[in-house]
Amino acid sequence: NRENFLHAERLHVMSELAASVSHEIRNPLTVTNGFLQLLKGSKTVTSDEKMYIDYSLKELERAEQIVSDFLAFAKPQSKNMVYSNLHEEFVYVKNILMPFARMNQVDIKCAFSNTLNLKYDKNQMQQSLLNLFKNGIESMKEKSGTLQIEVYDLEQNIIITVKDSGVGMTNEEIQKLGKPYYSTKKEGTGLGMLMVYGTISKVKGKIDVESKKGVGTTFTITIPV
Ligand code: ADP
Ligand code: MG
Repeated sequence: NRENFLHAERLHVMSELAASVSHEIRNPLTVTNGFLQLLKGSKTVTSDEKMYIDYSLKELERAEQIVSDFLAFAKPQSKNMVYSNLHEEFVYVKNILMPFARMNQVDIKCAFSNTLNLKYDKNQMQQSLLNLFKNGIESMKEKSGTLQIEVYDLEQNIIITVKDSGVGMTNEEIQKLGKPYYSTKKEGTGLGMLMVYGTISKVKGKIDVESKKGVGTTFTITIPV
């Protein structure tokens, strides 16, 4: 339908744009970073000036983060598509996020079935799962909780559910998921869910969101095998 078409078109334009601009922006960021580091090492810099330099370096780091989120999203698709077991990606991402979860008093519980073979872009899938799990953990950081992840195959589909008992979303907020730069977080880039929607649409999957403010959120992703 039209809504889906517009969404796909938006993703396409975004990824084209991201690919061409990201590389160009990275160079000046690197150069500026280098000169600021030099300046910081100078003996004549006052402590106030050093503070300004540190702020600038921090902001550069943020810009760098935005560019890498963009680049990950823009990576050319078909040549990175491989036939693989999704199980590997879940284990990898879970391990990466363990320290972050522990820091926020969040447990991660996973349940898998064995055969989760599919053709997908490994890098993008890892990034997307990372974004999804990270959002879940971040939603629970004020009250601790458990991130419940289930992956199983059912009638020619792979079903992924990611459930948190975090802050939850209103219907209006759910509608905004995947819009570039939509974020309610102080340090958010608002590119995580864009990446998730992009990756899942590439494998012809769909995403259902069920959420209640103050109760939690469940993402259900269905991918045809
Ligand atoms: P970011 O995490 O950088 O803010 P995302 O695209 O990953 O950007 O998410 C966009 C917004 O969607 C978040 O800022 C948050 O408001 C909302 N969101 C995403 N996942 C969840 C979740 N599991 N629980 C509650 N809100 C969520
Ligand atoms: Mg996020």
